[in-house]
Amino acid sequence: MDQIIIHVDMDAFFASVETRDNPNLRGKPLIIGALPGERGVVATCSYEARKYGVHSAMNIKGAYRLCPNGIYMHPNIDKYRAVSAQLHKIWNTYASAAETIALDEAYLDVTEKAGNLEGARRIAQAIKQRTKDEVGLTCSVGVAYSKTAAKTASEEKKPDGYFEIPSAQDFLNLIIDRNVSVLYTVGKMTAEKLNALGIRTVRDIRENPETVARLLGKQGQWITKLAFGVDDRKVTPYRPQDAKSISREVTFQEDVQNYDLLRDVLALLALCVEHRAKRHGLLGNGVTLKLTYFDMKGITRSRITSACDSAVMIWQTAVELLENVEKRPVRLIGVGIYNLSGEEGRQLTMDDFMNESHDRRDEEMRKMLDTLQHRYKLGFAGHLAQLYEADTLHKTVEYMRRHI
Ligand SMILES: [Mg+2]
Repeated sequence: MDQIIIHVDMDAFFASVETRDNPNLRGKPLIIGALPGERGVVATCSYEARKYGVHSAMNIKGAYRLCPNGIYMHPNIDKYRAVSAQLHKIWNTYASAAETIALDEAYLDVTEKAGNLEGARRIAQAIKQRTKDEVGLTCSVGVAYSKTAAKTASEEKKPDGYFEIPSAQDFLNLIIDRNVSVLYTVGKMTAEKLNALGIRTVRDIRENPETVARLLGKQGQWITKLAFGVDDRKVTPYRPQDAKSISREVTFQEDVQNYDLLRDVLALLALCVEHRAKRHGLLGNGVTLKLTYFDMKGITRSRITSACDSAVMIWQTAVELLENVEKRPVRLIGVGIYNLSGEEGRQLTMDDFMNESHDRRDEEMRKMLDTLQHRYKLGFAGHLAQLYEADTLHKTVEYMRRHI
């Protein structure tokens, strides 16, 4: 094995922490996110709640419909963060490089420390044991030759699981007849698109690489590589605050002279930036607008703002910047936040849903989206997540351009 990678993932992390600290919750459907009747989404739920069909990112109303007898709680982010620090500290001792993916998840490069598969197995067992003994929680661990395979392996026997995928061949034997969504980066939308063309399994991807590339472009090529078990990505120690900026942009197929349309497109871009910022627990302290005109002349305009990760704030600032540029046909438009900081206490998205100002901003953005949907007859109600895929964003924007 050229590289030996471990993926560790806590089981139902927030819910497990709460159950550990309050044994009365043991064995009960526990849903962390918001209380019934509040606006909010499920951050994590216990395995008992999952039996009712509850899953994370579902809104609380929907969860309550499925599981009215569940126990609903607000997340206790400070507590989870403290536990997370304890966990990563233990895990990191076994790796020459560790990449934190989330509070409860990491990739560890154990190539050197393990030496071989047997060594990796011992490390995995030690990680599971110490996580249990020192933190009182269970995790699932995957050992594999690549990041994708390691992540797949840790999912395989959840909860409290262990699984290994030593080679690309093993990986392929495992997944070849599974749905395409088993592959990393194939989200629900992408899976549906592929399925619509009759590409349902990993095998179908392997047999139709041209179709996949035509449908999904660059992402398609990546997915096809994965379908052949190829993933050379290294474990890269990553601290979110190392990123300099977070931005999204789109290039139009035809130059756009209509600045009302640009304003609307900025709203979608701002949503994408918000999504990425929140996923990494980052706030921007400035907003940048980027334009490339039809003659390839590019400009950027920025403004310092108070700490922000909200789409509304990003959008409004970008629109103000747009008002002050030369109104010539535009080929590319982008928006970003810069001067990033990771603000403590705001690191996860879910607790944000509880505070009032967020609710208000949420409401404003919802109104904005309603307007857009009405104006362009867009059908993304309730499917916002689709927009975050580059391909969908691009198609949506092109659709808007043609339908204004
Ligand atoms: Mg987890």
